[in-house]
Amino acid sequence: KESTDINVLADEYLRLAYHGLRAKDKSFNAELETNFDANLPKINVIPQDIGRVLLNLFTNAFYATHQKQKTAKGEYKPCVSVTTVQKNEIVEITVKDNGMGIPDAIKDKIMQPFFTTKPTGEGTGLGLSLSYDIVVLSHSGSINIESVEGEGSVFIISLPFKN
Ligand code: ADP
Ligand code: MG
Repeated sequence: KESTDINVLADEYLRLAYHGLRAKDKSFNAELETNFDANLPKINVIPQDIGRVLLNLFTNAFYATHQKQKTAKGEYKPCVSVTTVQKNEIVEITVKDNGMGIPDAIKDKIMQPFFTTKPTGEGTGLGLSLSYDIVVLSHSGSINIESVEGEGSVFIISLPFKN
């Protein structure tokens, strides 16, 4: 683990996720909103691992808006917003999208390894289960999810300063 600026990490992986999806599909487009806490303290994490967690969350969020864009009737503005904030002894990263949302019937399955609703080649279903291992098991953090089918999802990652 090393002292890491989560804002720098989030910014880097946000670009990577966005351009990764654009490279695969030129019709992909989404508005990006960032709200990074300018006074965010550096925290001790494994940057490559937390980077993978963020990359997956961003990719999932963009993907969900792109799916909705393909089926949306009428006006729809795809949007992903990323917020970082310090709260007491934790750093919180929030990834919000106004995409497809997660149906109640699969909410308890999405953290399972190999569970995916994406076609072969587009998803492995490993992102969130790996994120659980990284965030909860190796950084003593937590992952909270709120989602409404058809409206969007919010994923909140909490990382304690001491982990
Ligand atoms: P993958 O992205 O390879 O499918 P993940 O573990 O990252 O694997 O996600 C598992 C599943 O959880 C996805 O296939 C999707 O059904 C659901 N999911 C994750 N993030 C979102 C999101 N932001 N919006 C809607 N569904 C999501
Ligand atoms: Mg994923």
